[in-house]
Amino acid sequence: MDLVIHRGTREIGGSCVQVTSGGKSILLDAGYPLGDTTSHVDLSVLDFSDVLISHPHKDHYGMIEGINDDKTIHVGELGRKLIDAGRIFMGQPVLKNRFSYYENRKPFSIGPFTITPYLMDHSSVDAFGFLIEAEGKRIYYSGDFRSHGMKEKVFKWFLADPPKNVDVLLLEGTMLSRIGKDCDSESDIEQKMLDILREATGPCFLIGSGQHIDRLCAAFRACKRAGRIFVLDIYTAYILRLVSNRFENVPDFTDKNIRVLTKGRTASSHYSKVNANRELFGDFIPHIFLQDNQIGMDEILDNPGKFILKVSNFSDLLGAMESTRVTVIYSQWIGYRQEIYNPTGFKRLVDLENNPNIDFYDVHTSGHAVVGDLQKLAEALSPKMLIPIHTEHAEDYKEYFSNVSVTDDGEMFSI
Ligand SMILES: [Zn+2]
Repeated sequence: MDLVIHRGTREIGGSCVQVTSGGKSILLDAGYPLGDTTSHVDLSVLDFSDVLISHPHKDHYGMIEGINDDKTIHVGELGRKLIDAGRIFMGQPVLKNRFSYYENRKPFSIGPFTITPYLMDHSSVDAFGFLIEAEGKRIYYSGDFRSHGMKEKVFKWFLADPPKNVDVLLLEGTMLSRIGKDCDSESDIEQKMLDILREATGPCFLIGSGQHIDRLCAAFRACKRAGRIFVLDIYTAYILRLVSNRFENVPDFTDKNIRVLTKGRTASSHYSKVNANRELFGDFIPHIFLQDNQIGMDEILDNPGKFILKVSNFSDLLGAMESTRVTVIYSQWIGYRQEIYNPTGFKRLVDLENNPNIDFYDVHTSGHAVVGDLQKLAEALSPKMLIPIHTEHAEDYKEYFSNVSVTDDGEMFSI
């Protein structure tokens, strides 16, 4: 097998790896870079038939738009739905690629390759690592993973029964720069949110990804324990509907502690996207407007301290709460408050942080494995060669792992 990392040997995000055997080529991820990148990847000049998407984060799938439909995109079925949902609510058409859905630990073939997906714990649902077998050789691609989220058990199961005889491990190392620093679990995040809510008397806004299901669940549980109601925008309600259809421990918006905000600026923006794609939404639309599921601005403003609000743009609500002490829980990467990573949105966030009427809290933890967990995975797989990917610290791997071979973007090697 021949292996080329087109992007990812020296950066986090934008991963793209090509594996070739017997004249057949597949890509492992086709991601957009997260910021400045040193490697330009043009898929139109690469010769491949299939793309395996490890999980529905843009830095792993962002480049599949526009790929010819003679190529097949392999992804988890829920992952594909989340990709579509993100696009619809951004006002973009759903992808027209040819998709094929893989399932946890069910091997499938692409030409000479046998692929086995392994479900992992990550800040995205439907996140997988891949075992790729051909010519009697085995590559394991870690994708993005961690062990401190809601799916911590799947990491334990993986360690208890890992793929054997792995020749090459492509191991993500997002957190390699944070040696010695412990990482909060999602349960710790829930507790921190609860502590804040118990102190706060006014309304609380939650800022974070509508697709970070572990975090939404942590906030929902903290909200319930604090005796508040969780108010969601229509987009977040739809994501919960998609995921709760698959996982029963994830609440649907019909839960008695959840309401969907169906009026105001964000609601009308989201509703227009839903309305333009009604055929994809089934009974979601009538359900959000049922009396027990919806809430309006007036009801919130009558007693704002009763709620936690996860609403993507809440400037209208904030404006109407002028004389109230407001709490904001910022629960995503701090980089979004920096112009370099978020040129169009950073100012709104910085203004909130500096608003004298707002108590602003950072409550977040990484979606990626700490070094100790990276080592556990590497020990379990015991590869003949370990190659850094999705990291800014490839040169440091040798301190923590055996059999490390550092490569450069675009460099081809054979196993
Ligand atoms: Zn990811």
